[in-house]
Amino acid sequence: MSEPIFLTIDDTVVSVEPEATILQAATRIGIRIPTMCYHKATTSCAICRLCVVEVEGSRALIPSCVASAGPGMVVHTRTARVERVRRTILEMLASSIDLSEAPELQAHMRDYSVDITRYSGCQRRCPPILDDNPMYIRDYAKCVLCWRCVQVCAEDAQYTYAINFSGRGFETLISTFYDRPIMESTCVFCGQCLGVCPTNALKPKREWLLEQGQSLDEIIETTRIEKRTCMSRLADPSSEPERKQP
Ligand code: SF4
Repeated sequence: MSEPIFLTIDDTVVSVEPEATILQAATRIGIRIPTMCYHKATTSCAICRLCVVEVEGSRALIPSCVASAGPGMVVHTRTARVERVRRTILEMLASSIDLSEAPELQAHMRDYSVDITRYSGCQRRCPPILDDNPMYIRDYAKCVLCWRCVQVCAEDAQYTYAINFSGRGFETLISTFYDRPIMESTCVFCGQCLGVCPTNALKPKREWLLEQGQSLDEIIETTRIEKRTCMSRLADPSSEPERKQP
C-alpha cells in the first residue's frame, strides 16, 4: 500500500492516499466544495468548473474534482477570486436555464449571493418538452449540460449509449443520434439518467402527469396504454415507423 501524502486545505493539514483528488481530500475534513457535473457514480469530467479552488503556486484556478492532491500542496477553497468565479458561473446558468427544480444549485446560489438579474435580458434556452415515451419526459429547458446522464447511459453504468451531446455552442442539447425519438434509440428505460439528473430536466412520466393535474386513475390508464404500444413495438420491430435516412 502506498504511503499517504499530506497537504493543507484552508489551514488544515489532511492526509490522503496519493491517488485522491483535492475534492476528496477536502471532503475528508468536512470542507464542502460546491459541485454540479460531479457525481460519485460518474467519472469526473470538470465540465462545470464550479468546484475550482486556488492552489498556491498555480496561476490558474484548479478544478478540484479531477486535480490530484499533491504532497505539500496548499489549497484555498473559498478566496474572493474563487467566490467570484462560482458566483458568475451560477449567474450565467440562471440567466438562460430554468433552475426552478434544481435544489442543490439553488442552495449554491443562496450561499454565493447570486444575483439572478445580473444577466437579465439574455437569451433563454426554451426547447419544447419531449414527451415521446411512457416512462419519462425530457425538459431540456432545465438542462445544465452536466453530462451525468450521458455518462451513466454509457461506460459509467449502462453501456447503452442512447444519448449524447448534440449541436454546438448555445444550441447544444442532450439528444439521441440524429435526434430520433427516444423509442427509436437504444434506450432500455433503465432510469439511471433520471437518478443522476440534478435539475429535474429528466422526470418520471407519472410524476410529471401528476403535476399536470391528472388523477391517479388517468395517469395509470395513460401510461398503461403507452407501455402496451411500446412493448408491442419492441416485440415486433417491423411495426415501427419507417426510418428516414439522415
Ligand atoms: S438532462 Fe440532467 S443529467 Fe443530463 S445533462 Fe441535462 S442536467 Fe445533466
